[in-house]
Amino acid sequence: MASLIVGAGFSGAVIARELAEAGLPSTVIDSRDHIAGNCHTERCAETGVMVHRYGPHIFHTDDAEVWDYVTSRATFMPYRNQVKSTARGAVYSMPINLHTINQFFGRTMRPGEAQAFIASRATPPATTPAANFEEQALQMVGPEIYEAFFKGYTEKQWGLSPRALPASILKRLPMRFNYDDNYFSHRFQGIPEQGYTDLVARLLDHPAITTQLNTPYDPGMAAGADHIFWSGALDGYFGFCLGRLGYRTLDFERFTDTGDHQGCAVMNYPDPDVPYTRITEHKHFAPWESHERTVCYREYARAAGPGDIPYYPIRLSAEQTLLAEYEALARAEPNVTFVGRLGTYRYLEMDVTIREALNTARAFLAGRAR
Ligand code: UDP
Repeated sequence: MASLIVGAGFSGAVIARELAEAGLPSTVIDSRDHIAGNCHTERCAETGVMVHRYGPHIFHTDDAEVWDYVTSRATFMPYRNQVKSTARGAVYSMPINLHTINQFFGRTMRPGEAQAFIASRATPPATTPAANFEEQALQMVGPEIYEAFFKGYTEKQWGLSPRALPASILKRLPMRFNYDDNYFSHRFQGIPEQGYTDLVARLLDHPAITTQLNTPYDPGMAAGADHIFWSGALDGYFGFCLGRLGYRTLDFERFTDTGDHQGCAVMNYPDPDVPYTRITEHKHFAPWESHERTVCYREYARAAGPGDIPYYPIRLSAEQTLLAEYEALARAEPNVTFVGRLGTYRYLEMDVTIREALNTARAFLAGRAR
């Protein structure tokens, strides 16, 4: 009997591939009309630009095996994520680096001077562990930079006061006292030349894998499968019987232009009176291509309702309690493994998703071999 893999994103595709290479057949179903989940990329018919339909995805990792795994299946082009931020009428460099600090304060400080300068403004002193996002920001960058670059953006992104959010969200971002403006600190970084959907298609391209799109899961399907790998929403598997886990969703307002609209891939808008968080210009995610026209997305965040696409798990204390209850139900399901961002209700980068999918498939195969 074949395994049933619910969801044709990275989790599902990697597990299907690992099973197939070990001789085990699987059927991968997805309710959408395309593979690759929220990493899906497609060429815009109007401009020819490769668009990241559900928002920008830049592959970055320190995991050499995962990097080999993806780069042996698709050509990755070098890419360095250099984000800009328009705040209070000026354009700055993100993540916060020496250029941002010197420009913002109108200074010409060297690294050590800037470090001492920021430390003198940090409140409370950097030795105190931060209890929430705001405290983390005040310790890391001081009140002026926090107010200009983080407070408004975070309120828009999460719909909550930064005092209600965990410090871990900000810890994803580096803070540098040099002119390195690489958004990520990982050893390997790139974007697949033909897009993520092509990469996922390559993973699924195996005689032992059957992929069915436009196919929502139906509990009746379980009888025909020896095991289910579930990468859909954890609460969705249980029919939301205990209530809904909270997500932020994104609305994209698409527009086109000629030439180069904003000169970079990602422009953040932290000012509170601008309703969107950022504008992404997709041709800049493929600088090896050339297009006369350009396509941009204004990005708006809001609470996800039923039927909306879930993006960011919220994971505040109310969700943590509900999550623990759903996790208990999940543990009691003998033939179902919950995987990926939605299946485990965690913020997961693509590389971690692939690493966990590899580990899940290997543990499953080792269990069968015993
Ligand atoms: N953030 C911010 N201002 C920025 C960029 C990020 O306040 O210009 C905050 C925001 O709360 C965001 C978090 O830092 O959710 C993590 O940023 P990251 O770029 O990792 O966000 P993601 O790519 O996950 O949307």
